[in-house]
Amino acid sequence: MTIFHKIISREIPADIVFENDRIIAFKDIAPLAPVHILFVPKTTLPTLDAATPDDAQIMGELMLTAADYARKIGIASDGYRVVMNCNDHGGQTVYQMHLHLLGGAPLGTFGA
Ligand code: 5GP
Repeated sequence: MTIFHKIISREIPADIVFENDRIIAFKDIAPLAPVHILFVPKTTLPTLDAATPDDAQIMGELMLTAADYARKIGIASDGYRVVMNCNDHGGQTVYQMHLHLLGGAPLGTFGA
């Protein structure tokens, strides 16, 4: 059980911006850009490394949901970044797989 599971089950609050039967999206508590949203599958999946072909649909839906949201809030034409950290060296700190959507300002060169 991760902190994101507790957000899904409403045990702890979050600023939820999108939800359907399969995905929840909420504002990151420590934003790294003016827009910083986390897109999280509701089914337990700790990391990208743990994903299998059975997860292909939810992986695609996660990406398309982030893209739809970026378009909806008006940052898509200027551009944005999506990031998925995997395991320790990737900087993953919450072990329920999630996609970061970052935008709302120029983000610079990746990794700079
Ligand atoms: P990771 O490092 O695993 O890729 O990303 C985890 C993200 O979750 C971090 O950006 C961190 O700020 C965010 N986060 C951690 N705990 C909470 C929380 O309780 N609420 C929200 N909204 N975000 C959280």
